[in-house]
Amino acid sequence: MATVPRGGSWLFEDSRSCAVFSPERLSDEHRLMAKTADEFVTGEVMPALDRLESKDWALCRALVKRCGELGLLGVAAPEEYGGLDLDKAASLVVVERIARSASFGTTFGGQVNLCILPLVLFGTAEQKTRYLPGLIAGDIIGAYALSETGSGSDALAAKTRAAKQDDGSWVLNGEKMWISNGGFADLFIVFAKADGDQFTAFLVERSSPGVSSGKEEHKLGLHGSSTTPVFFQDVRVPVGNVLGDVGRGHKVALNTLNYGRFGLGAMCAGGARAVLGEAARYAAGRRQFGQPIAAFGAIKHKLGEMTARLYAVESLCYRTAGLIDAALAQSPRDGLSVAKAYEEMAIESSICKVTGSEMLDFVIDENVQIHGGNGFVRDYPAERYYRDARVNRIFEGTNEINRLLITGMLVKRGLKGHLPLVAAAKRLQDEILAMPPGDRGSDTGPLAAEWRTVAAFKQVGLMVLGTALQTYGDTIETHQEVLSFAADILIDTYACESATARATAALAAGGPLASLHEGAARISVHDAAARVEFAAKTALAAMAAGDTLRTLLAALRRVLKPVPVDTVTLRRTLADAVTARGRYILE
Ligand SMILES: Cc1cc2nc3c(=O)[nH]c(=O)nc-3n(C[C@H](O)[C@H](O)[C@H](O)COP(=O)(O)OP(=O)(O)OC[C@H]3O[C@@H](n4cnc5c(N)ncnc54)[C@H](O)[C@@H]3O)c2cc1C
Repeated sequence: MATVPRGGSWLFEDSRSCAVFSPERLSDEHRLMAKTADEFVTGEVMPALDRLESKDWALCRALVKRCGELGLLGVAAPEEYGGLDLDKAASLVVVERIARSASFGTTFGGQVNLCILPLVLFGTAEQKTRYLPGLIAGDIIGAYALSETGSGSDALAAKTRAAKQDDGSWVLNGEKMWISNGGFADLFIVFAKADGDQFTAFLVERSSPGVSSGKEEHKLGLHGSSTTPVFFQDVRVPVGNVLGDVGRGHKVALNTLNYGRFGLGAMCAGGARAVLGEAARYAAGRRQFGQPIAAFGAIKHKLGEMTARLYAVESLCYRTAGLIDAALAQSPRDGLSVAKAYEEMAIESSICKVTGSEMLDFVIDENVQIHGGNGFVRDYPAERYYRDARVNRIFEGTNEINRLLITGMLVKRGLKGHLPLVAAAKRLQDEILAMPPGDRGSDTGPLAAEWRTVAAFKQVGLMVLGTALQTYGDTIETHQEVLSFAADILIDTYACESATARATAALAAGGPLASLHEGAARISVHDAAARVEFAAKTALAAMAAGDTLRTLLAALRRVLKPVPVDTVTLRRTLADAVTARGRYILE
């Protein structure tokens, strides 16, 4: 029996042995799902954007219902409740497409990732039978009510209370904030402190007396998605509507987000793909100084960089889908086992969220710049994309919190002995210092220099984390700056390894796009090397001084020796390809 993939284990493994899932390996069934979602968004959502932005929630409901008819809401849900029970790659291709409209994507994400998913994972048979068919058909709209005015990142500090009644039912009192689908949802997953301090999830129907929504928030973006406070005043919740166990609401909340973050990363990749296409078409059509602006090196640089960054994020999201599917294939199919598989991949899911949202922000910003003045006015979609994307760095756990989770989970698994973190880090420094100064390794083959650099990133990541453990011991959690720099190194490592593995496979398969894959991977690794070096030096200098620091920096110089690459030409090649085709070319 194959071993269950362990989250974070890639940091300790030999890179070249990693076979990653990628868009090139999608099946016909996946492509069909993608086509269905694509046609739905093009034909039904994009023409409705203005009406959605004027808060036509009846139309929004109708679009959710259409998603249900097309099978898009139940891609990952069990067949017995009307779902399709497909793999994570199928979910990924659907959310990527839906994300072309960020507002509707948020409505969709609220329904699928934040309501259907926790019910599938933690619901009783009775709860699933009662709610899932309606949610999957799009007849019932769902929402996830965790945040409150005083508890966003610190979500478990919620003040909403649930008091147990003599007949076993509960009475809820409290106020939730920023709830997606809050204005028109029929069913809320509400988190409250039950009987004192027991954090618990409840299924609450809007029709229950005492449930009401506040006014729509005036947001920077996502105007076509409902975000409201939701009030619960003496709301009676039947005994059968506790989701999961009393006092175990954190499991429901956190495991929902573990998966949701992977979905959000994929949505960001899908959004960036749409934006890059817009940028390329605009650059090809807009003429200045007698030629299309796409002919200028400064614009080529932008289009090439946007493509390379998207490639890396797309590569790591697909790889994560493959890892989650592999973990699920090894686990029983009951909800709690599935939740455990998601938990196992929580590090990778957080990486998808952080790197996806930051890549998208880069891409939408450059898109505005490529549009010049037209990027700043409402006549072009660039402005809407710009406003819509910003929240991705805030919701589903801010990027600061997710960076801390990435390193926090790795350290915890290392200390528990589930990952060989401490031993590897201790061994490493001696090994590096024993290396002959000029040693660059002798392996050849496709992307040999990039593979070496990725291996070096892993050593650097271990060195920084190992030094942090030795230096700070039990107080490591309070050294957030160092942990965040370490997270940046891990993020670049996972992204570059995913991109290099995908490009190596593309080169082996041949074909007209192979050299573009190679170029995108080489740019990613080359640029990451400078970031990794900066992050490592800053972190090490915070932890050590004098001879110790000099020794650590000598070790860093020995291991991290990136080869100079002409990324200017590589970016131009990518830019010319996207401009010629008017869209992202590597999907
Ligand atoms: C459009 C939109 C839709 C949303 N949809 C939903 C929804 O459907 N359901 C739901 O429950 N919530 C939803 N939210 C809420 C969202 O999840 C929270 O806004 C988010 O978790 C951040 O919480 P906060 O706003 O209270 O920020 P805070 O927690 O106050 O954070 C403020 C800043 O402090 C930083 N910070 C906080 N704690 C720490 C720490 N320990 N260490 C380091 N830095 C820290 C944060 O990273 C951030 O930069 C939505 C929000 C928006 C804007």
